[in-house]
Amino acid sequence: MSRPTCSHIDLDALRHNLAAIRLRAPASRVMAVIKADGYGHGLERVARALTSADAFGVAALGDAQRLRAAGLNQRIVLLSGFDEPADLPLLRQLAVDTVIHHPAQLAMLAVLDAGTPIRCWLKLDTGMHRLGIPVADAAQVAARLRALTVVDPELLLMTHFARSDEFTAAATPAQIAAFESACQGISGARSLANSAAVLGWPSAHADWVRPGGALYGISVVEGRTGADFGLRPAMRLATRLIAVNRVRRGEPVGYGAGFICPEDMLVGVAAIGYGDGYPRHVPSGTPVLVNDQRVPLIGRVSMDLMTLDLRSQPAARVGDPVQLWGPELPVEEVAAAAGTIGYELTCSITRRVQFVEA
Ligand SMILES: *Cc1c(COP(=O)(O)O)cnc(C)c1O
Repeated sequence: MSRPTCSHIDLDALRHNLAAIRLRAPASRVMAVIKADGYGHGLERVARALTSADAFGVAALGDAQRLRAAGLNQRIVLLSGFDEPADLPLLRQLAVDTVIHHPAQLAMLAVLDAGTPIRCWLKLDTGMHRLGIPVADAAQVAARLRALTVVDPELLLMTHFARSDEFTAAATPAQIAAFESACQGISGARSLANSAAVLGWPSAHADWVRPGGALYGISVVEGRTGADFGLRPAMRLATRLIAVNRVRRGEPVGYGAGFICPEDMLVGVAAIGYGDGYPRHVPSGTPVLVNDQRVPLIGRVSMDLMTLDLRSQPAARVGDPVQLWGPELPVEEVAAAAGTIGYELTCSITRRVQFVEA
């Protein structure tokens, strides 16, 4: 039998989530952010399910190449922008929009051969201090861009939030105000909102929203799952039990004797481990579903396997289904146990896991 470890991708859930986002931001166009291989769900797979998006956002030019090779002719935006002159002919050839976040990029555009103009999204730093032109320079940089014949006359303006997942923090209104003030007098469509801002900051919806996680049904708002916002998880990570063993009281389980059996008990072994992308450092007690019932993971997660406390499932047998996360066990809950966010877990699934579309 081939390894039973599969990541099931629910294409209907992706479409449902895009529709739910449109309902929340009815006046905005939607750039579906599908960087990092569609947050681990599969770049082309996600793009094909979401062809009704108004644009796709990617972080690597290679992703844009893959989308075009797959026959997808939607607008694509390179969110981190180009970083060397050789990228520019490729942007033109692939008809990809680029983000402009640094003066070094203006210098490269200034010496570019005449040809098809490149559409640019000018990114302003309104307080996150990662990528972006200082707000004080916005008007001057916009004017310099508009003066270049290689730049498409349709200039767009954007910024990115640092704390939009904190629905009561003052940081987001401050970023919105800084953006509005910096953009005054500059024409062009505006874009501010990532998923959390789509969900929690309607005043930031503007002309284009840029959801990533919400498309996959994942929330980064602490203590809340995608389902709490009417979203459906698009990934179900599943495997099977390949052993059910009776282990005696006082005996250790797994590497480093990470768990000692408090009584004679059934221990299940599931065919998944960190080699599949399941986080190694989750503690004993992290929930896993066996036969749709929660059981605690016990001991250390190993490369190919994990061990489970089956005391609540005396009838469990080899071959029984195991779910690591999905509609019945939110990835956000596993992520909390792993000290991270759901995005990192779905992005980390490795290549030996079989992807199945449903
Ligand atoms: C990744 C990214 C997004 C999407 O963020 P989510 O939290 O997944 O919605 C939006 N805009 C930019 C610039 C990004 O890099």
